[in-house]
Amino acid sequence: MNTHLQLDERGRLRHLLTLEGLPREHLLELLDRAESFAGAGDNRSKKHPLLHGRTVVNLFFEPSTRTRTTFEIAAKRLSADVINLQVDASSTSKGETLLDTLKTLEAMQVDLFVVRHQASGAAHFFAAHAGPGVAVLNAGDGRHAHPTQALLDVFTIRRHRPDFRKLTVAIVGDVLHSRVARSDIHALHTFGVREIRVVAPRTLIPAGIETLGVRVCHTLQAGLTGADIVMLLRLQKERMVGAFLPSTAEFHRDFGLTAERLAKLAPEALLMHPGPINRGVEIGGELAYGAPSLILEQVSHGIAVRMAAMAMIIHDRNPVAKGRRTR
Ligand code: ASP
Repeated sequence: MNTHLQLDERGRLRHLLTLEGLPREHLLELLDRAESFAGAGDNRSKKHPLLHGRTVVNLFFEPSTRTRTTFEIAAKRLSADVINLQVDASSTSKGETLLDTLKTLEAMQVDLFVVRHQASGAAHFFAAHAGPGVAVLNAGDGRHAHPTQALLDVFTIRRHRPDFRKLTVAIVGDVLHSRVARSDIHALHTFGVREIRVVAPRTLIPAGIETLGVRVCHTLQAGLTGADIVMLLRLQKERMVGAFLPSTAEFHRDFGLTAERLAKLAPEALLMHPGPINRGVEIGGELAYGAPSLILEQVSHGIAVRMAAMAMIIHDRNPVAKGRRTR
């Protein structure tokens, strides 16, 4: 996929499609910007006028709870008009249909499309066909990328463990089907994390993943020992065609994380999960909330991170003069 599509001729963020190949300065700027929106405490009362008069369309072809809602809240906090289109995946296909959707909505003077789609590359397709004043933000495409999730993950890590170069991060579970894992690996590398491990049964590790600079582990013991951060992934049954596992019970027996296992293998580690969690499968229910889990913090940080991404893409490239759009 053309990773340069997301930068304009001056190297500024034009679309946000993937973290692969995105310069460190952009990632840092996104995190710092998010920090300014998150503030020290309650930021609920703060409305920012940055996107006043702009229109954001949430175009979700796949289900979503956290991502869609936090994008909506983020856009509203920036004073944008927000439209949510919950597209029934079965009534859409590829190619022209997507293009027609894009062109139809564009004709309504949309400024930003936030796109989630089951096909890897869908957000790139939108970006490649979007008009000059229209931006695209990838909210998860197939198994490929979920850039704002990875940004909120590194944002959350930075708040607790700011020295990335000292960290060992273990990503545990269904790596094969996970766009979150891919985006996290790119982000963690960009920030110079000491070691990234992927931990799963052989059937859930994509071929050639070592080329991304990760260490592959096939037991929790090997994967978790010495880890500072443990990121769990959901078993993505909706993307599994055929049998990847004998049973979820067996997966839980060998790879499910319980409080007892965590205390034994990585007692100092912080725990993360992008959600939704499958209790009793990849995570013991007792671990969901409360220390050392950062799961709810991740959700909250999604707002500030998505505000930062939208502000950079829409406002910074094309500020509104006296409340009027300039495109
Ligand atoms: N919410 C994340 C995603 O959309 C992770 C998951 O669904 O398991 O990729």
